[in-house]
Amino acid sequence: MDSVSVKWYGINSLEFRHVNGSFMIDPYVSRSREKLYIPGEVDKYITSKPDFILMTHAHWDHLPDLPHILKNSDTVLYASTTACNIMRALGVPEKNLYALSYGEILDLPGNVKVTAYESRHMGIEGEPEGYSTLPDPETLKTHSGWRCGETFAFMIEIGGKKILNCGTANLCEKSMRGLECDYLFCGISRYKAGFPELLTANLHYRYLIPTHHDEFTLPLDQFYLRNDLQRLAEDIPGLQSFEIPVLQWTELPQ
Ligand SMILES: [Zn+2]
Ligand SMILES: [Zn+2]
Repeated sequence: MDSVSVKWYGINSLEFRHVNGSFMIDPYVSRSREKLYIPGEVDKYITSKPDFILMTHAHWDHLPDLPHILKNSDTVLYASTTACNIMRALGVPEKNLYALSYGEILDLPGNVKVTAYESRHMGIEGEPEGYSTLPDPETLKTHSGWRCGETFAFMIEIGGKKILNCGTANLCEKSMRGLECDYLFCGISRYKAGFPELLTANLHYRYLIPTHHDEFTLPLDQFYLRNDLQRLAEDIPGLQSFEIPVLQWTELPQ
């Protein structure tokens, strides 16, 4: 298998590098309760130009840095209709947006195959609130205006490796039952009762690599982890998992 390296920026913000290029998932580094977006933080941490960007859902701790990132990188964001409508309302050009459908399979730059599975957000039953039309930009000035919208999990196939990303501690059994991957990058932040059983019953993975379990309302220079991985290791005996350090490149084990 070809070498793939990953850099974690906290929350579910991930960058992958491989022999043919690079891509990101949910890039967001502003991390503030008061301000949705801090340009200085984006310029400090996100300096690369990924071939494309995937977005799991449109919440404030995943999407708000994108207008700035897309302006700097001129790449394409693959995201829900809700996320694309938020971006349009903020003036992001159409050439930088691609609205995903559930189940869509994409051949993306760098020989990367991506399947966009219907997923679920933690704590939300059924269809979450989203934007099927352009929201008023005024409503996007507060965190609550960044509605969840459609939630995706991404299976990424690259150089013989299968990487599955769930950005929040839930999944859609109907679309995801039986999925197999080498690396499950899984949002486990404050997961609720029943989630360990849901994971075990539906997904097969060699390694679980936790995401989103950092204290994400503090800036990256005050980064620290919460105890969600310890909880998960107690709830899933024999859990095969490892942590990746924040803001450092790590090669995925063969
Ligand atoms: Zn969320
Ligand atoms: Zn989140």
